[in-house]
Amino acid sequence: MAVNAAYLGMQLDLNDLDIENVEYFKHCAAHSFHLQQCSACNLLRYPPTTACPWCADRESRWVPVEGKGAVHSYTEIRHAIQPAFKPFVPYLVLLVDLDTQKGKPSEHEALRVLANLCTPDGKLAPPEMVRQVGIGTRVRMIFTDVAPGLSLPQWTIDEAASQPKPWRYPER
Ligand SMILES: [Zn+2]
Repeated sequence: MAVNAAYLGMQLDLNDLDIENVEYFKHCAAHSFHLQQCSACNLLRYPPTTACPWCADRESRWVPVEGKGAVHSYTEIRHAIQPAFKPFVPYLVLLVDLDTQKGKPSEHEALRVLANLCTPDGKLAPPEMVRQVGIGTRVRMIFTDVAPGLSLPQWTIDEAASQPKPWRYPER
């Protein structure tokens, strides 16, 4: 087993056979975001996978990618289905368009990376931070250390970026 750890009391296992994810999380453990770049068409892809989704070539190389982007969409969880998340509601799951490769291979596409909204030190964001974030918010990647060899890529507000007024689902 490449990774065997607990996160918020939940068991996280990564098997050696899951070659692409083992490599991906090895970089994450070093707080470095890497993605596979196809050797044939040169496009990056996410999530890590065996073959290129654009041209089906199986050869790729791992390259460092800047962890910056804008929120494409989000879900605000108020009822935790998974009991481990109960103390953290409401929390945000963000789908983020990376700046890198945005608009390729077609104008509507982007590398869309799913992760939680966190504080800069990697804890799930408190309610006052959750309320600030919506579609369009500029975010940067940080890493939450879970165990030796396992860090989770997460998003936090990019304090250095100029922020648009985010769009949020209407509240009742
Ligand atoms: Zn390709």
